[in-house]
Amino acid sequence: MLISSGCQSQKPDQTSSRPAQAPSNEPPLTPALHVPEIRTVPSGPLPVPERVPAIPMPLVPALPVAPLPVPLPSSPTNSLLRFPSRDALTPPEPDRFPGSSWQSLNRWLITRQWPAAQVSTLAQTSRVNLTTPTGAWTLQLGSQRAFWNGTLIQLGFEPRAILHDVLVHSLDLEKHLAPLAATGAVAWTGSRIIVLDPGHGGAQPGSRSITGNQFEKDLTLDWALRLRALLQAQGWDVHLTRTNDFYMSLAERVDFSEHSGAGLFISLHFNSSFPNQEAQGIETYTTTPQGMNSHLTREYADDPKRPYPNNRHDEASFSHAVRIHQSLITRSGATDRGVRHARFMDVLRWQNRPALLVEGGFLSNPAEALKLTAPAYRQKLAAAIAEALR
Ligand SMILES: [Zn+2]
Repeated sequence: MLISSGCQSQKPDQTSSRPAQAPSNEPPLTPALHVPEIRTVPSGPLPVPERVPAIPMPLVPALPVAPLPVPLPSSPTNSLLRFPSRDALTPPEPDRFPGSSWQSLNRWLITRQWPAAQVSTLAQTSRVNLTTPTGAWTLQLGSQRAFWNGTLIQLGFEPRAILHDVLVHSLDLEKHLAPLAATGAVAWTGSRIIVLDPGHGGAQPGSRSITGNQFEKDLTLDWALRLRALLQAQGWDVHLTRTNDFYMSLAERVDFSEHSGAGLFISLHFNSSFPNQEAQGIETYTTTPQGMNSHLTREYADDPKRPYPNNRHDEASFSHAVRIHQSLITRSGATDRGVRHARFMDVLRWQNRPALLVEGGFLSNPAEALKLTAPAYRQKLAAAIAEALR
């Protein structure tokens, strides 16, 4: 659960060693604090306009290049992962991301010897199509919504038009376009030790299905157990943060990953927008790169200048989030809500490895809840992630 009904696993964790509490102390399960804006997202590739000819864009002089993010502390130790001393170890950075850090998209492409972008306009929407060695991007002027091989990606900044060129923020080039161009079609090559994290547990049940008395904590555990079996058959060394119904703090989940020597961390959740019943689909999160605003902040302060340990793995986290998200959307047929960034997720931001969190569907949507509570559908979700990790 994440959107509006108060996903307990996503709140800043002050209880790393706190034992499970009695259910009577837990917050109510369903009342929502607020309902966010829900936007319907197309599940397939954008339609290609047929009657509007593509217009090659001329080059413009190079624009200033944004400074790179300040390197994060090296040689992390477990002490970095423990609350409450973390804040003191990652002091806020000065403003190193001025708004002038835009680059000519075509110059960026041509320096890599890739084809120039093509701009087309249909129904007042200007789309920018470009091809990299591993796939095709469609950007939209004035919109953070972009598509890579048909999968929705939420950019950090809206691409802009200037004269006859398109400007894309250097952080989007560095953190989104470049990583997928480099590794977008490459299977996982890192350590094959993985930690799967079934969200919630024990006295934290997470969301409740609108169709019955089924809780997120049980469904995520079932999903993780199914995925474990599939990944083990593919040669992965799989560790689960919990294998039954008990409470585990977010800090404990991060420390578990550290002690497991994991090369990849995946947290599994299901979503809720209760009392809104319309929202549906799958969304996948990674930690927001330094210098960008988050796509989801909820009630927490989002400081773009502040780095976290997980930011060392921005590119790998994003690449594998896209790969997994794309497989999930393709196999499940669910609505594509995109690959997004959030900075407040403690279970991700303190990880010293590529890490992502999947929200596998909305338990607050009656039709989707029916699917999510069916074992065969959860097997499909597990198979989709395993397929992406071959
Ligand atoms: Zn959750």
